[in-house]
Amino acid sequence: MADCIFCKIVKGEIPSAKVYEDDDMLAFLDINPVSPGHTLVIPKHHCELATDLPVEQMVVVARVLPMVCRAVVKATHAEGFNIFQSNGRCAGQEIMHVHFHVIARRTGDGIGIRPAPGTYAEGEMERYRAAITSHIES
Ligand code: 5GP
Ligand code: ZN
Repeated sequence: MADCIFCKIVKGEIPSAKVYEDDDMLAFLDINPVSPGHTLVIPKHHCELATDLPVEQMVVVARVLPMVCRAVVKATHAEGFNIFQSNGRCAGQEIMHVHFHVIARRTGDGIGIRPAPGTYAEGEMERYRAAITSHIES
């Protein structure tokens, strides 16, 4: 996509601090890190949402993403990590090219990623369970 920042990074039109690249995938440091080593893992194929990714590309993500996570953890001496991924502007997606954040974590680092949990009213959980089940594509 011509006006997509991440497509421009893929094409080398915008510089990036690359940590991994193959024919299908690119991983590079986020320019505004949540913690040092914050890495973005992207399929080179442009699409907006994780659900738009062709299954063959998702298979490649499944191979590359854990490899990059392990490298980030080792390089930053982290205790753990978050894989964080947003779909749609309402969910906080700013760059409309599917990407996975890999964020190194350690105890007491103060990084707030987990939203406050809620509760269901009587019967509501079952209604959502049934509705979601009815929409599962087979
Ligand atoms: P989102 O909010 O869409 O999930 O995340 C987009 C991420 O891309 C943000 O964390 C932001 O810091 C990062 N970002 C935006 N523009 C650039 C850029 O030009 N280069 C790099 N390396 N990261 C970028
Ligand atoms: Zn793109």
